[in-house]
Amino acid sequence: MKLFAIFGDPVSHSRSPLMHNSVFKNLNYKACYTRIHLEDGTKLKETFFSLKLSGANVTVPHKEAAFLACDEVRGFAKKVGVVNTIVNENGRLIGYNTDADGFMFAIKEFGDIKNILILGAGGTAKALASKFIDSNIKVSVINRSEARLSYFKELGCECFSWDNFEIKKYDLVLNSTSAGLKDEELPAPLALIEQILDNISFVAEAIYGKITPFLKLAKEKNIRCKDGSDMLLAQGILANELFVNHELKSDDIKHYMKKSFEL
Ligand code: NDP
Repeated sequence: MKLFAIFGDPVSHSRSPLMHNSVFKNLNYKACYTRIHLEDGTKLKETFFSLKLSGANVTVPHKEAAFLACDEVRGFAKKVGVVNTIVNENGRLIGYNTDADGFMFAIKEFGDIKNILILGAGGTAKALASKFIDSNIKVSVINRSEARLSYFKELGCECFSWDNFEIKKYDLVLNSTSAGLKDEELPAPLALIEQILDNISFVAEAIYGKITPFLKLAKEKNIRCKDGSDMLLAQGILANELFVNHELKSDDIKHYMKKSFEL
């Protein structure tokens, strides 16, 4: 029996165990998936091995720590320095990023997006900004603190902190901060958020499973919006394919993961 887990702080909200266990159980794959509350990201590797895990997902705030914990990082994760999926390959930790492709899938329904404003500058924002730029989408980033913006400046994004933000029209705004995850905070001061929402076509929230204050405000303004559920599903399917080393059919994984959302 293989054991998988998701590491995060907080992690109790995570739907990943339900999603992956639905696949394992229904497809008779001998594995089980649990959640681990990890406060110190530098302890990720030793915790992974002490629990004899075969693989893991990593969520807020440890995705950059996960990159450092891996023995080898493959594909897009290597470019962005952000890992959300780890596979134990003969005692070596191999890191991947499935968030960015997951999000691209999730916003397909909004059509042709040409410019995006990202709220937040954490691990998820890094991966998504890089993916957007690769897809010829213009990216602006606004974050509470200046310190994390340098990565985005180098990438060619227009960067703001709350103090120097200049409003423009954007196709899509994404909340990639953790504001609203375990509290009822907005990702920026109310006046600033109002200004953004009054100049936007679509709104996406990375958080899933609750109506955050940001999403609530967007809905009140009748803006077309979505929460992080589709992103969660898409990144989960890609992660599961890696966990089972592509031994299960993609369509079956998708079917049973989707089914877990009905529970
Ligand atoms: P990180 O911890 O790496 O980054 C968090 C970011 O949020 C930082 O920019 C931080 O700003 C900002 N922030 C935190 N609290 C506040 C606040 N109260 N007000 C304003 N800004 C704040 O987290 P991740 O990038 O890994 O994850 C971010 C969010 O995205 C989480 O809520 C996570 O659950 C969600 N997510 C959802 C996924 C899905 O599948 N739906 C996939 C990936 C992520 P500062 O730099 O100033 O500290």
